[in-house]
Amino acid sequence: MSDKNGWLEFERRHVWHPYASMQKPPQVFAVERAEGVRLFLQDGKSLIDGMASWWCAIHGYNVAALNQAAAQQLESMAHVMFGGLTHCPASELAELLLRLAPNGMKQVFFADSGSVSVEIAIKMAIQYWKSQKNSKKTRLLTIRHGYHGDTFGAMGVCDPDTGMHHLFAGMLAQHIFAEAPENVSQADWDETQIADFAEKIERHQHELAAVILEPIVQGAGGMRVYAPQFLRRVRALCDEFDVLLIVDEIATGFGRTGKMFACEYAGISPDIMCVGKALTGGYMTLAGVLSNAKVCAGVHQNDSILMHGPTFMANPLACSVALASLRLLLDSPWQARVMAIEKQLKSELVSCRNLPQVADVRVIGAIGVIEMKQPVDMARIQPLFVEKGVWIRPFGKLIYIMPPYIISPEDLSCLTRAMREVAAI
Ligand SMILES: *Cc1c(COP(=O)(O)O)cnc(C)c1O
Repeated sequence: MSDKNGWLEFERRHVWHPYASMQKPPQVFAVERAEGVRLFLQDGKSLIDGMASWWCAIHGYNVAALNQAAAQQLESMAHVMFGGLTHCPASELAELLLRLAPNGMKQVFFADSGSVSVEIAIKMAIQYWKSQKNSKKTRLLTIRHGYHGDTFGAMGVCDPDTGMHHLFAGMLAQHIFAEAPENVSQADWDETQIADFAEKIERHQHELAAVILEPIVQGAGGMRVYAPQFLRRVRALCDEFDVLLIVDEIATGFGRTGKMFACEYAGISPDIMCVGKALTGGYMTLAGVLSNAKVCAGVHQNDSILMHGPTFMANPLACSVALASLRLLLDSPWQARVMAIEKQLKSELVSCRNLPQVADVRVIGAIGVIEMKQPVDMARIQPLFVEKGVWIRPFGKLIYIMPPYIISPEDLSCLTRAMREVAAI
């Protein structure tokens, strides 16, 4: 649009932003283009991106290989329905995903977004028991501080306090919440951390379809990092009490924690696994639900079928870009890059622990978190970060970054310096 201010004014009055008021619109910054790890604003400023667009843009922006994959796919078809039709990009992407996934994952259901993949995972777990004529096992067990998405099924397993339970009281399924394990930065592992979970899974085993949790890192529910021992004990308890295990790798998947999938820290395989976010390298929305042979066979007993089928299921354009993104990741020294980011984050953020305003500092892989003692004043802090030439978007008490893996040490230092300065205010 030529009337630059005109469109901004229009969108301010007519276009919703996430978790924001339309009546008192928050300040938003107009982006003209993005390249590498930089966002170029309409006013001429450029920002080093610490968020990877909500953790998705792992290769940065305007990536030649992904542009090319999209352009090439457009030449043949942008989309066709998946009911009764199929295409090569879906098959090739599934093949690669299953090869990378923890042992035992055998099928993929392609969904439109992370939240939808969580809905499908929950349906799969419930149908697994229903198909076997066990209609009592319909509830889920999860841990506090979790985040699994904003749709109704997913909201029901988000943290009851930081999630949106109170707004939708009575409308969400009543699931069971166990205490979350402690942050690794605060405590070594001991068995007391699994005690509440162990008690609840035993007590509720006959009504539990599945356990759902984020492995090793809890993202939007608090940016917490917990010990692999907890995840291993969860897997063992699920087996002992005959409950399926769903892991939500939507935030952690595709190398973010330093492993391809965070499950690898514990050496476990789930029964069902959700992936999304970085799957397409941040180009477009696509998610997947992976399942093992046991789940697939269980769902189909007595000739049952999985009751889900989104309009844009396995969108060929998204599948092609995802395939290119995964190949690009595998062709890059991604693990060395992420471990180098981890090392630098540790050395440049750890000094913040001594600030009186700071409660905790946590680093794993390409994730760096400063937890403040008080909630961050976003209206004040956001423009401050922009002034400093970085894009960092805190929430609650958390100032954190999850940058693209391709970020240079110099640019990463700019991000951590800005974090330190803002945390010290
Ligand atoms: C972002 C996220 C979701 C929801 O994904 P959307 O694509 O936003 O629907 C679910 N689970 C986790 C762990 C996430 O980080």
